Amino acid sequence: MIAWPLKLIAGKDALVTAMRAGKYVDLAAGYGWQILAGTARFAATGDGPVLDVDLGAGGTTRLHAEHYLVATGSAPWAPPIAGLDETGYLTSTTAMDLDALPASMIVVGGNAVGLEQAQLFARLGTRVSVVEAMDRLAPFEEPEASAAIEAVFADEGIAVHTATQATATRRDGAQVVVSTRAGDGHDAELRADRLLVATGRRPVTAALNLDAVGVKTGPRGEIVVDNQLRTDNPRIWAAGDVTGAPQFVYVAAAHGGIVAGNALHDAGRTVDYTNLPRVTFTSPAIASVGLTDAQALTAGYRCDCRVLPLDYVPRAVVNRDTRGMVKLVADADTGRLLGVHAVADAAGELAAAGVYVLSAGMTVEQLAGLWSPYLTMAEALKLAAQTFTRDVSKLSCCAA
Ligand SMILES: Cc1cc2nc3c(=O)[nH]c(=O)nc-3n(C[C@H](O)[C@H](O)[C@H](O)COP(=O)(O)OP(=O)(O)OC[C@H]3O[C@@H](n4cnc5c(N)ncnc54)[C@H](O)[C@@H]3O)c2cc1C
Repeated sequence: MIAWPLKLIAGKDALVTAMRAGKYVDLAAGYGWQILAGTARFAATGDGPVLDVDLGAGGTTRLHAEHYLVATGSAPWAPPIAGLDETGYLTSTTAMDLDALPASMIVVGGNAVGLEQAQLFARLGTRVSVVEAMDRLAPFEEPEASAAIEAVFADEGIAVHTATQATATRRDGAQVVVSTRAGDGHDAELRADRLLVATGRRPVTAALNLDAVGVKTGPRGEIVVDNQLRTDNPRIWAAGDVTGAPQFVYVAAAHGGIVAGNALHDAGRTVDYTNLPRVTFTSPAIASVGLTDAQALTAGYRCDCRVLPLDYVPRAVVNRDTRGMVKLVADADTGRLLGVHAVADAAGELAAAGVYVLSAGMTVEQLAGLWSPYLTMAEALKLAAQTFTRDVSKLSCCAA
């Protein structure tokens, strides 16, 4: 183990505490809401559901309300890998609390959380290997995005094993040994000081006693809700990760607002995930909104797509970092944009702009004709749109 830069952890903790206070705890106090520190579970009474709260300070209290909102989030989930529990492993949460930097680490899972943390540890000096069962990193993104981030990881010395299953783990002295099986049947062993499992998160519902109050859960433990976020009990609602919805802060926040309106004012608001963006905060970042090329084809569109490498984007050239690309997916019949995908510094900003472009129903021609400030990364959107009408056939690319 290498001495961990404790200042980094202390800085992260201070930031989280300040943001939590500023965005949530102090706000609640400002509205006059009571916050009880404790663990809640439902109980059924003749008058309907109540909440029993085991208080952190000791004792239990019972809460009665007209409506209840369950927002208990999700927790790291690990697949059934032989020996995993005995071996011990880090999750995305515990990895951020280490007080010493491991010399080496195996990260199982090559999607958003695994990629972000793999690159973080590699940049701090840990020798990192990533094991991903699917045939590419960021497997739900465009293949060009996966190729771009795989090239970045290769540049940074991160070993990537795609199409590879972690089949078993064990301890060998101070080290962790992970047995792997590749898609071609090749078996191997990886060794490291630490193992981080980043294979997704599952809703936290097990201890809530939901059965007693008639709230149904799905196969992953998620609370089953209708499109107004009401559960099978008309007085109980759910929001955020616990519903099995896309796991983003902005989804949870939007859910909360919808439930408040529906439960308290009978507003009848529904959830609409159209043009929901997503960002993986690697560096460069991976971001997207709308349909991928393959999804557009499956949806029955005649698809027209363009991939603009960042070598064509002045901001990236000036940054002296042209790793990445922008891909636009359009309906070939109408020119309407269907998807925006990027691997770039500030790719999240491109996805945010993409939300506006897609929500406005713009065509590639309209996007190509808009003003865009020179020397911004956002200019990449306009430049990519221009490739639809110019003779840049070498840039075109479609799954079809
Ligand atoms: C490593 C990582 C990186 C992420 N990065 C991003 C990102 O960049 N952008 C983004 O949008 N999203 C990101 N997410 C996802 C985001 O954190 C979640 O989608 C979001 O926090 C969900 O909010 P929530 O309110 O549903 O649940 P949570 O934020 O998980 O809150 C649930 C709360 O309920 C409490 N609780 C649980 N059970 C009980 C109980 N019985 N009684 C009382 N309290 C209980 C928990 O202690 C917790 O405080 C990331 C997640 C991870 C793990």
